[in-house]
Amino acid sequence: MPGFEFFGAEERKHLQDVMDTGILMRYGFDGPRKGIWKAKELETAISNYFGCTHAQLVSSGTAALTTAMSALGIGYGDEVILPSFTFVASFEAVLSVGAIPVMVDVDDTLTLDPEAVRKAITPKTKCVMPVHMCGSMADMEALQSICSEHKLLLLEDACQSIGASYKGKMLGTIGDAGTFSFDFVKTITCAEGGAVMTNRKDVYLACDGYSDHGHDHTGVDRGADLHPFIGYNFRISELHAAVGLAQIQKLDQFLAIQKKNHAALKAILSTIPEISFRRIPDPVGDSCTFLSWMLPTEAITRAVVNEMKVQGVLAGNFYWFDNNWHYIRKWDHLKHSLTLNALSPEIKAAVMHHANKDFSASDAVMSRCVSTAIGLLWTEDQLVEKANRMVAIIQGVLHQQSVQA
Ligand SMILES: *Cc1c(COP(=O)(O)O)cnc(C)c1O
Repeated sequence: MPGFEFFGAEERKHLQDVMDTGILMRYGFDGPRKGIWKAKELETAISNYFGCTHAQLVSSGTAALTTAMSALGIGYGDEVILPSFTFVASFEAVLSVGAIPVMVDVDDTLTLDPEAVRKAITPKTKCVMPVHMCGSMADMEALQSICSEHKLLLLEDACQSIGASYKGKMLGTIGDAGTFSFDFVKTITCAEGGAVMTNRKDVYLACDGYSDHGHDHTGVDRGADLHPFIGYNFRISELHAAVGLAQIQKLDQFLAIQKKNHAALKAILSTIPEISFRRIPDPVGDSCTFLSWMLPTEAITRAVVNEMKVQGVLAGNFYWFDNNWHYIRKWDHLKHSLTLNALSPEIKAAVMHHANKDFSASDAVMSRCVSTAIGLLWTEDQLVEKANRMVAIIQGVLHQQSVQA
């Protein structure tokens, strides 16, 4: 699943190129850098690989979301609709631009339920932000039609789904903008980094300036650049971009291994009739970083998770329902609006509103779901052994339940 499983000579080579010139910054120093532009090269590679006209590298996936939202003009008075199942970064980014996060239910795709999105639309809604969780996609056709009907922006958080596609288009390139994360556990990694992808030139130019203090990058040197608007520093370094460049060149290989291992694991788990799998709107587009499966009830799922823990099989299996970082149930810091600095009263009230909101539809799915991370380095024997141990545990719990019933 994560690219760090495959570090090697390629990463070292690109890093060495940067070390040889000593120019660790992505902008300027045109002479001394001797033609080495790793960030620019990676941006071109991203545009080519994923099929978008523009890519802007930044310092993290969270910074990519903040940058994209600013570039799309999302801010004070705007509501952004996003799913109850995501990483905390998604709502952090909404708050960072002074907008209001509106969390709504997910369905059995583990992503935004289009009907829940429809119901949450108000005159303040400005953007719908699907999060393509665990390597697979939201129902983009349904969300696109909602956005065009209500004239809303569509921003894809594709941080976890690098290399997945929907009906032939790469995730992250379908909406007005999309984001990737290259943090240490993502499909390709450069330690810390992210990207905004867009087919809109205005959005790209805004991202380019915003992520570098508002520099318009048209001056003859940095000091001569103009500052048409206020920005921040979300720059990526050449060292990080160098590692990213090595990793994107291996992405085809990562995806091929993931698909093979995912299919093998799914075939073995499918022998249990009580197991169902996450619904995937376009199965051929799944990047297969995870296999997400469901059992009939929360009680059975909890018993299985517990037994996997006891037998030491839990590593690499994620029960998101109890996870502090990926599901709304445990986000007490959000529900109590625990910020270090004061929020506007209006935003604070809107955020705290989530404490009493009904997420029973999400709970009904998430309480029965386990995601198994697909290893890139598994041997065939290791995969079969892992799968067989999982099957034995699941069958044991199901048998016990039927005896008790
Ligand atoms: C990892 C992740 C992010 C944030 O990326 P960072 O690079 O860690 O800041 C945002 N959204 C989702 C869904 C993620 O998984």
